[in-house]
Amino acid sequence: MKTINFDPRTFISPPYIKCPKCGKKSFGILMICNHHYCRRCKDCFFPRGTEPASSYPLPELNKKVVYVDQFAISNMMKALNPQTKPYKKGTLDEFWVRLFERLDSLCKLQLITCPDSGFHTDESLLSPYFKPLKRMYELLSHDVRFYDHETIKRFQIYEHAINWISGKADKALNLDVHTVVNGNINAWQDRLIISVNIQYGLDWIDELRKNREEMHKGLSKLFKQWQSERNKTFDYWFEKESMAFGRVTLQIYLNYLKKSAEISIGHVELTANDIFPPSSIVFIHSIHDAFRKAGIQDSDIWPKTVEYLDSSSLKDVPFIKISSMLYAALARKAATGRKKPPNQGMANDIEIISVLLPYCNAMFIDNECQTYLNEQPLHDAIDYGTKVFSQNIKDEFLNYLNDIELRAPREHLDKVNEVYGESWREPYTTLYRVQKKSNITVTSNDPA
Ligand SMILES: [Zn+2]
Repeated sequence: MKTINFDPRTFISPPYIKCPKCGKKSFGILMICNHHYCRRCKDCFFPRGTEPASSYPLPELNKKVVYVDQFAISNMMKALNPQTKPYKKGTLDEFWVRLFERLDSLCKLQLITCPDSGFHTDESLLSPYFKPLKRMYELLSHDVRFYDHETIKRFQIYEHAINWISGKADKALNLDVHTVVNGNINAWQDRLIISVNIQYGLDWIDELRKNREEMHKGLSKLFKQWQSERNKTFDYWFEKESMAFGRVTLQIYLNYLKKSAEISIGHVELTANDIFPPSSIVFIHSIHDAFRKAGIQDSDIWPKTVEYLDSSSLKDVPFIKISSMLYAALARKAATGRKKPPNQGMANDIEIISVLLPYCNAMFIDNECQTYLNEQPLHDAIDYGTKVFSQNIKDEFLNYLNDIELRAPREHLDKVNEVYGESWREPYTTLYRVQKKSNITVTSNDPA
């Protein structure tokens, strides 16, 4: 059996104040827990054993939620990581270092959080730099992570289905970001980040890559079709896209039932893909739960489900509305003469934006989608108060971030200094200079 010994002093950090017991200036920070922090003396270890803990309350926070897309995570990582080719060649825009400095500093000032998501993990797994990318998005998210995107969609469908069956289809959905993340957005951060490295199988990564390629193939085919539809309007494509959700969900459900029946009688072999049902199955079960909750009899559940999935009110479900509008904007471009097919990440970008946008104060996304979101009718219709930035307007993004700090009250900044010390806010630009090898790493986000 292995034992690990550590000096309790390791966990006491500056800033130090005068110890109430021994009088030395060695009363440091022992831990920071969400809404309070504790001090302990590095010299006499006060408070010990039965002595009451020295706990200090911390004020409520109201952090801005800023979603940083994978391409920015990747560029910031490369701009700071001496192991990467772009770093060695010095070909990256200095902007990425500036952006990292701003984001990291604002996170440490407890003014913003940049939640990570399954999209970050998946995209990072497809890159040769998985670990350094994970290090970057975990540093900025500090354990705040969006739920899986299919789960967030299910929440929206469930709530909308209850509203629809109760005759209140127009009622706004609850888009509180706290309901769709793991971790506490408004917690005061601890100085340490605990990160677990899971070994992802090559099969899993291959499957991800294959899915991505298939999504891209599907979109490229659709794009060709749009190019030939020159007489159609934006509304036509929006209508078509938004109504497709219900039909596709039902179709996938029926296919799944059919396949399950064939597997059960031995006509088809069970594969790893059949173990977890597609999200459409989960959506239908959620709709059934919603209807049962609203008092619908079992015999009416299926007819109502079919009616619901064919209803035009599904257009108002945020993720359906946003994705259908983005696809319609892309279709409009194709029909008005754009030759270049969408890039490989486009389908994924639309998925990310349509699911996460309503929950964020700001998003930094790719140029193309940001441009579409600025076109009409998207600009006016997709109005969740989210500020959307891209590389095209990168200075505006830096200004937005600078402004967050300028608006922070003096008392807040003083409190940050009291808990973490003055040097804490310095961005951790050297994070790739130390390599750690372990399945569990306890890393600091402190440059000191
Ligand atoms: Zn002491």
